[in-house]
Amino acid sequence: MRTPLFAANWKCNKTVREAVGYVRELGALLRSVDGVETVVAPPFTALAPTAEAARNTDIVVAAQDVYFEPQGAFTGEVSAAMVKDTGAEYAIIGHSERRRLFGDSDDWVNRKLKAALGVELGAIVCIGETLDEREANQTMAVLDRQLKVGLDGVDGSAVTRLVLAYEPVWAIGTGKNATAAEADEAHRHIRARLTDMFGIDAASRCRILYGGSVKPDNIETLASLPDVDGALVGGASLDPQTFFAIVASGAKV
Ligand code: PEP
Repeated sequence: MRTPLFAANWKCNKTVREAVGYVRELGALLRSVDGVETVVAPPFTALAPTAEAARNTDIVVAAQDVYFEPQGAFTGEVSAAMVKDTGAEYAIIGHSERRRLFGDSDDWVNRKLKAALGVELGAIVCIGETLDEREANQTMAVLDRQLKVGLDGVDGSAVTRLVLAYEPVWAIGTGKNATAAEADEAHRHIRARLTDMFGIDAASRCRILYGGSVKPDNIETLASLPDVDGALVGGASLDPQTFFAIVASGAKV
């Protein structure tokens, strides 16, 4: 049985004060919900105070990225150990905005993933096709490549700390979400590939989130799919009440 996970990706939004206020409000709301894991991903500047505010709540904190080198002359970067030191428990890796705007390759995703797992940080690894790739019937081939390279060399025993997020790039921030049939096909495909790579036990323990214009009114349909284990939410996660509505509906499913 996989515990559903709902993660709020705030992207480049929220000051320390706003982040802490959000966590207090969401933490209080979550007291009425059981059986889900709730994650918020603030910008690096707010990681430590958000993790502190989340202590004694049901919220855990994620970084939105991590660098693969442990330390050194890498101006602007933050290592996995530094993220862990803030009290964060996860790092999002390979988000499509990192891939598209900042050049993160599948190889970098792999190095970042190994760095995160190496310090016992959980990882939420994002994969997904662009609109051109979907229209060229390349969706499954793209997912296969991202999984093969991105997860290369990862030990099956680390899969409990690995979460995947299927995020069709054309659905992120566009208001268009994948249909239930599209999400179902992609999630089943990812589970099958994980089974090939890590065996059935590890693959059946790995959570696969859906991401892309998730809202309170579409989460029930998506979360009821057998291989959808929660959601990674961008725009609709910025308001704690709206994100809570998504978590509460997802938890019921
Ligand atoms: C995301 O950024 O991971 C995301 C899914 O964004 P949105 O929910 O706004 O589409």
